[in-house]
Amino acid sequence: MAAGTSEPALLSSRNQSSSSTRSASGNSMLVGLTCRNHVHVVVGTNPLAAARCAQSLAAGARPILIAPDTADLHYGLQSKIDDGSVKWMKKEFEDDDLFRLGREDVGSVVDSVFVTSGPKEPRSAHISQLCKRHRIPVNVVDAPHLCTFNLLSVHTDGPLQVGVTTNGRGCKLASRIRREIASSLPRGLGPACSRLGEVRRRIQEDDHLALGALDDSLDQSAQFNKLVAEEDARNRRIRWLGQVCEYWPLKKLATIGDDDVDRLLDTYPGLGADINDRNHNWEPSKSELGKLVLAGSGPGHPSLLTRSTLHAIRRADVILADKLVPAPVLDLIPRRTPVHIARKFPGNADRAQEEFLEAALQGVRQGKTVLRLKQGDPFLYGRGGEEVSWFMRRGLGDRVQVLPGMTSALSAPLFAGIPVTQRDVADQVLICTGTGKKGKAPLPPEYVSSRTVVFLMALHRIAGLVAELTTHLSPTDDAESPPPTHEAIEMEEKRRLWPLATPCAVVERASCPDQRIIRTTLAHVVEAIESVGSRPPGLLVVGGSCEVLHPRQRGQAWIVEEGFRGLDDEEEQAWAAGLEGALRAGEV
Ligand code: SAH
Repeated sequence: MAAGTSEPALLSSRNQSSSSTRSASGNSMLVGLTCRNHVHVVVGTNPLAAARCAQSLAAGARPILIAPDTADLHYGLQSKIDDGSVKWMKKEFEDDDLFRLGREDVGSVVDSVFVTSGPKEPRSAHISQLCKRHRIPVNVVDAPHLCTFNLLSVHTDGPLQVGVTTNGRGCKLASRIRREIASSLPRGLGPACSRLGEVRRRIQEDDHLALGALDDSLDQSAQFNKLVAEEDARNRRIRWLGQVCEYWPLKKLATIGDDDVDRLLDTYPGLGADINDRNHNWEPSKSELGKLVLAGSGPGHPSLLTRSTLHAIRRADVILADKLVPAPVLDLIPRRTPVHIARKFPGNADRAQEEFLEAALQGVRQGKTVLRLKQGDPFLYGRGGEEVSWFMRRGLGDRVQVLPGMTSALSAPLFAGIPVTQRDVADQVLICTGTGKKGKAPLPPEYVSSRTVVFLMALHRIAGLVAELTTHLSPTDDAESPPPTHEAIEMEEKRRLWPLATPCAVVERASCPDQRIIRTTLAHVVEAIESVGSRPPGLLVVGGSCEVLHPRQRGQAWIVEEGFRGLDDEEEQAWAAGLEGALRAGEV
């Protein structure tokens, strides 16, 4: 792990042995290489060359690409050449490139060489040999024996970098391990490194500490655990900072903000101040805040909740639920937890939303964990994105956690036996809303025979929607809007319409005991809904995929299927009983 103010490229010196049983003592020495303004020569034009240039640029180096004019450039490379960040020398590699393209202050010798053409290309071995002879670090793709250093799989978060190598045993494995490590780190650790680095620098400056007087690079020096009081007063604050970094939970460190840094330095003024009886009281102010969890509750059936949402339901101090959140999900809320259901009704949606946001903000400021429970997935027509940005605007973006939910847009078709993609029938899925902003009709999606379209919030204006899909709109249709431009009229004339015979299905209350499916075509769907009535919430699925597993019955304009049989009832009942027991016992 390397944390510093510069952006070093993480490289490791490479052990030359190729034995697969190499002992740990033959492993690489991992180092953070400072590359600012170094000249890196990249030979080759494939995607790896683009990746090497990107890595080189990220470390502040100046990559020079050597490849003949005739080479087919990877688009990533082309864009970097176009913006001037990568210099392209349009020629074959020549030996003396290594000794004339480098920085003047190091005698024009280049700083590193990356060969991306692989070991089979004879010039790879040649360049490697040349570099080795002249002590120029060289890396050849897929050829450990030709490298003097290898690149790590790196997770970067601001100044924090975590690099992983398996020493040639597999870069995919290294990348997987790196991802796993990165995902276990708390969010905000990179910025926290910057802030703590700043505290360290200021303490060093204020207390006139000689640079390097305290080598905190070793994990635990013998001095580390000594009481600060025993130390030279000059070193107190820096020792204290060392203890904070060592003992505070990473999660807590990751929440340190700029204001906390100022507070820390004010609380512990420099030289000679007695800090020992105070140094355990300081808390980052942000930790006094609570958090907002924005979670999706799935389409309706409680078994379709994610475990993380269920956990959030159990842990929340207060729950603000949308109106559509199904009752069986609300039933899982522990009795002691206050619940508010949104007072959303037509015309009041924006005010209800604002009310909820204010309530959530208040809760977070009081240190509470507030759960905003939404139906389906919070980011799919759930206004989840708006809520997150509302909190971000108030500087509380890092107090918000968003948990996904199973969206009705994909699960309702599934429970209706409609595979939204199916080879040779549908190769794309489009999810849209039938109702635009302020109740206006959004632009109807164009007909594509291999497309499944799922319309949410559409059934209350099904007649209008079907008309828009199957006939051209006349410019006079919308009296309130300004007259359409010539271009808009032309586009509308070219819009491909959906054939009336296109199969479709209305799926209502998917995954609830009173689920209902109407299978029909665009020609009859309006009549079908008029005839059987509506049972919200429901959605419309349109496209050939509706008939893949449920072929149309001859002579029937529509068929209606009642009830939900999507989950294993026995298992489900056992689960519900277990949960009820836990609720009674107060565990939940
Ligand atoms: N965030 C939600 C969608 C909110 S918009 C999600 O990801 O599912 C509300 C619309 O979702 C409703 O108008 C309806 O079209 C659809 N919907 C929600 N639950 C449904 C269900 N159980 N069955 C069918 N449609 C549903």
